Amino acid sequence: MGSFDGFRIIVVGSGFFGSVVAHCVATQLGLPVLVLEKRPHIGGNAHSEVDAETGIEYHRYGSHIFHTSNPHVWEFVRRFSDFSNYRHRAFARQGGRMYTIPINLMTINNFFGASFSPAEARAFIEAEIGRDHVSPPDNLEDKAISLIGRRLYDAFIRGYTMKQWETDPRELPPEIIARLPVRFTYDDFYFSDTFEGLPLGGYYRIFERMLSVPNIQVELNCDFFQVRAELPPDALVVYTGPIDRYYDYRCGVLGWRTMDFEIERPHQSDYQGAAIVNYPGLEHRFTRIHEFRHLHPERPHRSDRTLIMREYARFAREDDEPYYPIGTREDKQRYLEYRALALAETQMIVGGRLGTYRYLDMHQAIGAALKCFSNRVAPWLMQEAPLTGEDDPIA
Ligand code: FAD
Ligand code: UDP
Repeated sequence: MGSFDGFRIIVVGSGFFGSVVAHCVATQLGLPVLVLEKRPHIGGNAHSEVDAETGIEYHRYGSHIFHTSNPHVWEFVRRFSDFSNYRHRAFARQGGRMYTIPINLMTINNFFGASFSPAEARAFIEAEIGRDHVSPPDNLEDKAISLIGRRLYDAFIRGYTMKQWETDPRELPPEIIARLPVRFTYDDFYFSDTFEGLPLGGYYRIFERMLSVPNIQVELNCDFFQVRAELPPDALVVYTGPIDRYYDYRCGVLGWRTMDFEIERPHQSDYQGAAIVNYPGLEHRFTRIHEFRHLHPERPHRSDRTLIMREYARFAREDDEPYYPIGTREDKQRYLEYRALALAETQMIVGGRLGTYRYLDMHQAIGAALKCFSNRVAPWLMQEAPLTGEDDPIA
């Protein structure tokens, strides 16, 4: 482990948020940055690696598809890699049949054994919704029913959500489901952002390039809380770990979901014909199966092996990796208390998915990190400006 002396800024975590801040400080301000990462690799949950047995690049923490409508974020991320023109489609296996996900005209027609036109499908779904609609929907179940009606909710959302969150969908925030669009066309693309693709050289190259610049020192296998006493006391800390951990859980423990990933390498060229197939039924414990070769159709993969990964969700215990903030009403209340503590800090900024206890996609983490750098980190370092406000990652 290198020396920690002389750093005026320390970044905790090398996911997108931390890596972007570190890169900007090192390259734009020319100041030394110390990046502490408790895992044995950089990249946070967007990390990927090439499997030695099959030669297939896989995303260790589940498939990550890059999409954004923010031209600044798109321009920024492409400084570190060219991107393919991959556009994501997903499927659901339900009751022994295959459907397209998100729910579109094909899903509706297949499910109800119909051949509705868009207008007919709209009228049909409105009638479905009308039977159970609750207004205003303030939880995930009511929100879903207000969008698609109970039958589609029961088939495609309820079981998946119960497996994913192990929380009554009536206790979950409606925002989670707002991410899933419902379409009355045959458009079956999962995302509708302006820009989408996968890094041609792999996610790991993006992080290598971002952090392999002069002025950045990365320490892997290094937990901030273990080395805190050795860090320069006057340095600015940009912390991207879980916010409740930072404050020693003094306002209570925030609820997180973690994942278990089960890898298998079938002796066949193609296991499921697509990168992601969801399993919304309760007859399977896993929520989805990833098959990574389909994320890169441009690559010459071998024809006798493939790599698949089943994804199982469960509550995170203290020593598990926190992935998804649950966000029950109690969680939200606790988070507000932590946020108030964080806003009063004079030498510490909390950021990223874990720090802000928000369901951020990669482009939102990058966008927030760029704002954090220009609005707070650079002014603090260069002009001794006090830390004020936050950077809305969704804006
Ligand atoms: P992270 O990537 O979580 O990085 C935080 C880092 O901090 C970690 O490396 C962690 O080890 C480190 N750390 C924490 N505590 C400490 C400590 N005490 N000391 C040192 N280091 C510490 N986004 C998309 O845009 N598209 C997708 O398709 C997509 N799919 C996803 C699928 C899954 C299963 C998950 C979980 C997320 C997905 N995301 C996706 C979201 C994406 O992973 C996040 O937006 C992104 O990782 C956020 O970056 P971050 O830097 O905020 O956090
Ligand atoms: N979801 C669902 N059925 C599906 C896919 C998603 O019910 O087939 C719900 C579920 O509650 C999930 C949320 O929609 O947590 C968001 O799903 P998405 O795939 O966007 O999230 P990701 O896990 O990729 O971040």
